Amino acid sequence: MVTGIGLMSGGLDSMLAARLLMDQGIDVVGISFTTPFFGSANAEKAAGKIGFRLLIRDITGIHLEVVKNPASGYGANMNPCIDCHTLMLTEAGKIMEREGWDFIFTGEVLNQRPMSQTRAALNRVANLSGYRGLILRPLSALRLAETIPEQGGKVDRQRLLDIQGRSRKPQMGLAEKYGIRDYPSPAGGCLLTDQSFSARLRDLFENGPEEGIPALEMLRIGRHFRLHPAVKVIVGRNHDENCRLMELKGEKDVIFRTVEIPGPVALLAGEPSEADVQLAASLCARYCKAAGEPVRVSLEGRGRSGEVEAAPISEEEIAPLRV
Ligand code: SF4
Repeated sequence: MVTGIGLMSGGLDSMLAARLLMDQGIDVVGISFTTPFFGSANAEKAAGKIGFRLLIRDITGIHLEVVKNPASGYGANMNPCIDCHTLMLTEAGKIMEREGWDFIFTGEVLNQRPMSQTRAALNRVANLSGYRGLILRPLSALRLAETIPEQGGKVDRQRLLDIQGRSRKPQMGLAEKYGIRDYPSPAGGCLLTDQSFSARLRDLFENGPEEGIPALEMLRIGRHFRLHPAVKVIVGRNHDENCRLMELKGEKDVIFRTVEIPGPVALLAGEPSEADVQLAASLCARYCKAAGEPVRVSLEGRGRSGEVEAAPISEEEIAPLRV
């Protein structure tokens, strides 16, 4: 049996690519890569809807190196799409070789995205991955060079498509034909393309002593304030975020909570001075239910526990600290 392994975002295009190949009797295996920046939820739903096997691989370590030092640079935000995509194709290719499968496929559409899906960009990632010739893009195949599985008769080129450009109409027509509904919007799901998340990540890379996966996970939640290059405060915005901060806190972090007055959890990370401790307490006080009055704030961590009195920090003071 012919088997293709497909990069699976779980978006409509990757679903359609899988379905087109399945229509030819090809055994399709999807692969979804996970990191703190994107997960496999959409791919899992897609696998259930279309009916293919799905592999899930955590590539946080190697992916983070790419995000920190992208050889081909970033997109509009902290998204190193060319290098990220190359990495995914390379990892999928290794699995293909190990399992003795026949080719890799993606749901990419020629010229759908201005930077990452031009002919040059598609060829570039294929070359960089080392698997050019074995990477099939079923939705645009008729506009691209014939691949090895097509040349060898493993894939019937005549049953592939010639979609190109930014219009989504052909894909929506196909979705209708296949009865695919409720698919996620294109380009969703990767935090590296989000402007405010990218600002926090850039700040972490440039200033943060905070390390490890919890520091990355914390970028998704709360209000972030950089007091100094070595000191940061994160304030939860709701009950769930307060709980998550407590789960993610490290041994060296200090936790602040208002006493007797409902308020947020504030987490102080880094190497704080006494003035930083007081400032963190003022940030915590700023978001509690007291109307601008000084409040008592408990603190715990770094071998100390106790209470301080803190007046809420003013808007003027807070503005330059926001990340
Ligand atoms: S959008 Fe995110 S997951 Fe997709 S290629 Fe770019 S960096 Fe990678």
